[in-house]
Amino acid sequence: TCYDQVVELKGNLRVYCRCRPLSSQEVARGEQPVVDYDIYNINELYVNASEGQKKVFKFDRIFSPEHDQAAVFKEVAPLVVSVLDGFNVCIFAYGQTGTGKTFTMQGSESNRGVNYRTLEKLFNLAAEREGHFEYNMFVSVLEVYNEEIRDLLAPSGLQNGKKLEVKQISEGVHHVPGVVEAPVTCVEQAWKVLEAGGRGRAVGSTNANKHSSRSHGLVCIVVKGENVITGETVNSKLWLIDLAGSERVGKTDAQGDRLKEAQNINKSLSALGDVIHALAKRSSHVPYRNSKLTHLLQDSLGGQSKTLMLVQISPSGQDVGETLCSLNFASRAR
Ligand code: ADP
Ligand code: MG
Repeated sequence: TCYDQVVELKGNLRVYCRCRPLSSQEVARGEQPVVDYDIYNINELYVNASEGQKKVFKFDRIFSPEHDQAAVFKEVAPLVVSVLDGFNVCIFAYGQTGTGKTFTMQGSESNRGVNYRTLEKLFNLAAEREGHFEYNMFVSVLEVYNEEIRDLLAPSGLQNGKKLEVKQISEGVHHVPGVVEAPVTCVEQAWKVLEAGGRGRAVGSTNANKHSSRSHGLVCIVVKGENVITGETVNSKLWLIDLAGSERVGKTDAQGDRLKEAQNINKSLSALGDVIHALAKRSSHVPYRNSKLTHLLQDSLGGQSKTLMLVQISPSGQDVGETLCSLNFASRAR
């Protein structure tokens, strides 16, 4: 397809940045955004780090608060085509809690995010290819919390006490044995499965919002296709990932369980950064085994796979420290 050529030209690793608008509270406080754009350099953004100190960052795409969900998805859509063509794809939302990771990925019923639009596009494209290709799709919903994988579609009884592990089942193919892969045939049905998974995420936690910002939420869409004329098959995976909040935790408020959580988040996000950095540098050793997250995604990061990192940032001066950390993390990936 013509779409795919664009993807090829841009390479297998792309990094986009999206900045949320100032919240109504931030506006009420009289804040001015510290993030700036240049209409002549659309791939650059500027952060007023401190009085008179301007830092420049470059991305493959930048979405300012004026860009809506459709504008973001337009730049994601070519990867969805790649999945049906047999490529594994990972799409991550990275950033501090409150910067719009869930807004971008999950969205809301009236303002659909990447996840819903992706499913919709997958089914539409599959329908367009009917007669040439037969596709079967399956959905898994997982969570990585404190270096443990949880299957959010498993009956709650099964989850407890059952540790899920990543196994290599053949050359370059990794799998989590026992994980639920729900067969789905249309977007509405697939969405119901995702919603059911979302409900499973809150189980056992006193505060669902806090819990979701401290764990990685993953949706995996497995696509099995067969060319009805040649018999050629494709088998690919699309991961949609809402990462745990990247904020550093202050020494004073991190003790006990909270400290352990923070250390695990830190460990997995830096492991992800290291893997992407190694891939970007075409290093011969890619350290997938340093965290559950990167191990789980091993067959979908690198090689023929395509990766998109969506770095979410805040325009508020109060968040500028975290914003610079996120932008530096992203710059390292490019
Ligand atoms: P995160 O998942 O990173 O913690 P959320 O997705 O929960 O962040 O977003 C935090 C708040 O900011 C929510 O109220 C959300 O609706 C709002 N928000 C985030 N991004 C945008 C955007 N691009 N446009 C409008 N509101 C946004
Ligand atoms: Mg969130």
